[in-house]
Amino acid sequence: MKLTLETYSCNYETYNKWYFEDIADRIYKKHNSKNIGYDTKVIKLDGKNIQSQRSPSGIWSRSIFVYLDDKLTYIIALSNTNYDEDKLVECNKIGKKSTYGVHNYHANTYLVQGINKNFEIYHKYKQEHSNITLLFYMTDIEQSYPHNKFNLMCYRKLATIGFEILNIDKIDFYEFKEIKKGAILNKNNLHYTSLNEFINDSLVISRNNKGNIPSYMNTFDDYNSNGEKQTKYIYIFKALGAQTYDSFLTMWTIYELAKKENKNVEFLFSKEQYNFNDRKNIKTTKNLAGSIISLFKTLGIDIKYETSDEIRQELNRQKDQFNRAKKNNELRNQELFKNNMRARGIQTKCCLCGCEIENILEEAHIWGIAELKKADTKTIRSVISNKAMQDLIDITSEHKDDDFYKKYMIANSGDNGIWLCSNHHGLFDSHYFCFDSENGKIIINTQKLQENSSLMEFFNKITTNRQLPNEVMSEKTKIFLSKNQINIE
Ligand SMILES: [Zn+2]
Repeated sequence: MKLTLETYSCNYETYNKWYFEDIADRIYKKHNSKNIGYDTKVIKLDGKNIQSQRSPSGIWSRSIFVYLDDKLTYIIALSNTNYDEDKLVECNKIGKKSTYGVHNYHANTYLVQGINKNFEIYHKYKQEHSNITLLFYMTDIEQSYPHNKFNLMCYRKLATIGFEILNIDKIDFYEFKEIKKGAILNKNNLHYTSLNEFINDSLVISRNNKGNIPSYMNTFDDYNSNGEKQTKYIYIFKALGAQTYDSFLTMWTIYELAKKENKNVEFLFSKEQYNFNDRKNIKTTKNLAGSIISLFKTLGIDIKYETSDEIRQELNRQKDQFNRAKKNNELRNQELFKNNMRARGIQTKCCLCGCEIENILEEAHIWGIAELKKADTKTIRSVISNKAMQDLIDITSEHKDDDFYKKYMIANSGDNGIWLCSNHHGLFDSHYFCFDSENGKIIINTQKLQENSSLMEFFNKITTNRQLPNEVMSEKTKIFLSKNQINIE
């Protein structure tokens, strides 16, 4: 096998000594061979220095073309180093000091800045040559911080739209285990398997970053003209600087997943103010970058989206909802409850039978709304004072001492919920069974269920799991389960 790596002059200067050998090793390995050498070809670009050669119009300069026996077989998209590494190479040349290499220096934007160039590579070559495999190569793993949750999602998004990440073995997935509570991700199988899985992850990330709400996905229950429940998915995104590219990657991922599942997704665009360093000159983002809009068009992604006032309403929704709930003395906020459950990142399927069909998949309150409503101040206080409940109440809230507020926060806490199909939900709410608050095992209400042998038979038939999965059993959930258990004992 003869291996040729072809790249642009700017890439060659920056990457040659660092990455070509590694890339060659990995390509040979894919073909079960050890590295027996390779040729390089350089495409000369105009421009007097590396940075000026970057991204000339119409050229996809962040790529390496891989020929096997003179046949173009792979195209490698390189992660962004538009600034840092080029700068370093140039500084070394002219003997200047470079700030490159500081830990966390380019943090989260490491992957997404300039990813539009990779999109273009992807689109151009996938359309014209369906037999070419698109690879992604991360160029500065040692210096940057690609192991965090945000980037883990980026790798999974890239895999979902069709990139194979060549050096993913270099990434430590310990933070993934943190999100997924001990789950192990198959590095050869990174793609998201369902829109639900993706939404849950994106909510985990956005809840962890409340101060600066990143782009995020929410779900709402909607009803069609026949009164049937239809989940509505809304992706609220921002487009300031590199956020544009991350939003685009996210939207493409959503688009691919939704298409497979025949789901309708709406995209809502958030205008933002920026330039806060100079308070006099605050500007507002008005639209997505032109290059992104044209990519949407090329990909056939529907870019209909609403702006400003609507988005602000969405962001204020939860606040308005609380005020309305308090006025109507209504603890239940199904939308908040459901999104809080999703933000735990747990799997969206019935805990007892694995049912994933959305029309009949429901979010069940563990500590039921009716019982919670009846609970007295003393009971609520003793639950809230538990150490595990510390972050349940927002101590900066003006309502923090209010009983209704405390009950509202408990009622709609993600930890007070489990996913159940409508059959299991109905039986659970009628106290035919509950769960042991220590180990999550089903406790049957024998008196009630055994009275009705056909119901018992049906229950046994549909119940394939008799214990709540580990990922569900948080400390808060255990406390809520104990409150529900009282109904049967
Ligand atoms: Zn079920």
